[in-house]
Amino acid sequence: MKNLILVTGGTGYIGSHTAVELINEGYEVVIVDNLANSTTDSLDGIGQITGVRPAFEEFDLCNKPRLEKFFKDYPGLKAIIHFAAYKAVGESVEKPLMYYRNNLVSLMNLLECMNAYQVPSMVFSSSCTVYGQPRELPVTETAQILPAESPYGNTKQICEEILRDYIRSVEGIRAIALRYFNPIGAHPSALIGELPRGVPNNLIPYVTQTAAGIRGELKVFGDDYNTPDGSAIRDYINVVDIAAAHVKAISRLLKNQNKSDFEFFNLGTGKGSSVLEVVNTFEKVTGVKVNYKIVGRRTGDIEQVWADTTKANVELGWKAVRSLGETLLSAWNWEKKLRGIK
Ligand code: UDP
Repeated sequence: MKNLILVTGGTGYIGSHTAVELINEGYEVVIVDNLANSTTDSLDGIGQITGVRPAFEEFDLCNKPRLEKFFKDYPGLKAIIHFAAYKAVGESVEKPLMYYRNNLVSLMNLLECMNAYQVPSMVFSSSCTVYGQPRELPVTETAQILPAESPYGNTKQICEEILRDYIRSVEGIRAIALRYFNPIGAHPSALIGELPRGVPNNLIPYVTQTAAGIRGELKVFGDDYNTPDGSAIRDYINVVDIAAAHVKAISRLLKNQNKSDFEFFNLGTGKGSSVLEVVNTFEKVTGVKVNYKIVGRRTGDIEQVWADTTKANVELGWKAVRSLGETLLSAWNWEKKLRGIK
């Protein structure tokens, strides 16, 4: 019998890529998603890539009676990977209660059900945003957690605290929080990828949409940072590498190899790239020019951050292996597919 894993938010960007890697590694996947920021097209994509279209249940995790029914309908769940959450920084500033309610209540409902229905393991989708602008680079898991810059970031911090406190209070539940740096790119098949709604906030979809002619020009936010070329630096990591880390985390939890009941790991490449390096690399690997203009800094942006990935390398046995160029090319192939560009 295959191990059955619940992937919440599994029709979304990172969730769909993780479903693919889980299925490829022999797991059975059931996805729960309310389609707030995704469509069922990704189920078709997962099906085409793996030959298995995962089971899918459409509902909101904040609906506790519905979630209880789900746990009754799917007995024998081995673990949960919890992606489902709101994630737009700007929107979270405008609608903080919507963010707190959705992101916190869904986690608490899941934890209560894990306890009631004896599902012992969770992998939680967290973010390097918990570190803010770290004092020392690269940033390790022991770096200080700084006050969050946005309600969104605060929900990630609070969710980690909820996990820590709840796990301490009950027997038999363990969790791994994975703190993502900047996940980018798409599956090499271009059958699944990121689907930003409206004007993208993140750099890579903005770059690919500008290259596709949907946006007139990319605004590069700031060239006066204390970095080699003056633009801000992030650790961009291929979404398939991120997905593979979740499979490692699940395997660790199922084998009960964790050192404590609540662990966290950075998921990055260990290398920082500036905005201008990203644009230049994109142009080089795709042969497509990106029209851009340098403008002022974006409020709330930090200057530079990249991961120390030693802990994930050593303890999870995971390493990011895909290059920035390969990853940007996958993002471009996905954009072309979406827009019907040859
Ligand atoms: N960025 C930019 N233009 C854009 C979007 C982002 O110059 O249209 C920069 C942004 O200032 C940051 C980097 O790209 O330095 C990554 O931004 P993103 O929003 O993708 O991720 P985050 O800021 O959350 O790390």
